[in-house]
Amino acid sequence: MNLKVGRSASGKSGRSGELLAQKLHAEGISNQQVLKAIALSPRHIFVPEILAHKAYDNTALPIGQGQTISQPYIVAKMSELLLTEYLPQNVLEIGTGSGYQTSILAQIIPKVFSVERIKSLQWQAKRRLQSMDLHNVSMKHGDGWQGWASKAPFDAIIVTAAPTSIPEALLTQLAEGGKLVIPVGDHAQILKIITRNGDNFHEQQVEAVRFVPLVPGSVI
Ligand code: SAH
Repeated sequence: MNLKVGRSASGKSGRSGELLAQKLHAEGISNQQVLKAIALSPRHIFVPEILAHKAYDNTALPIGQGQTISQPYIVAKMSELLLTEYLPQNVLEIGTGSGYQTSILAQIIPKVFSVERIKSLQWQAKRRLQSMDLHNVSMKHGDGWQGWASKAPFDAIIVTAAPTSIPEALLTQLAEGGKLVIPVGDHAQILKIITRNGDNFHEQQVEAVRFVPLVPGSVI
């Protein structure tokens, strides 16, 4: 595990990150690798400066372009769901956004691939990850409905925006035994886990969630 998390080790974020991790533990998050990554991560660098004082609250916050950084509980929950049974050797994330979820995954999983449709968000996320000394992340500006075929198969895929139905490309890019964690729906969304077994895909429903839509087609 990469513990070089730059700015988090010093100053205000260390203690605040720890308190956030304790709160999430009390709310049912039990994976120690996830809790450790949350404790060490400087969430304040992933939000607009004017909202930095709210960075360690357990809430989603606006990050510009009509998008949000996900609530820490849901970041932790989705990460934890990917890590049951075995440690994935690679993960594809759809919806880089602020890069916070990406940074948590990059502290645990050896290779992280992340796709974002809004160039300016992707660029800012890249700079934040570099400032944390996380160099095991590859980013792509593109449409997440298509996944990232040339890097497939993936042991794990996580989608942090909600499609109305599961994109076919993501199922085909899942490795044998791999897991896809994805919110699905329009107004009423359900977080689902899809596990691949050959040509069969086993589906589990986790809980009701609220994400921005996974916008099909165009990139900006
Ligand atoms: N995990 C991120 C969540 C960001 S919100 C965080 O915690 O910061 C979801 C992101 O998905 C937004 O940045 C949005 O631009 C992106 N997105 C929406 N549709 C997409 C698509 N088709 N392909 C790639 N990214 C998409």
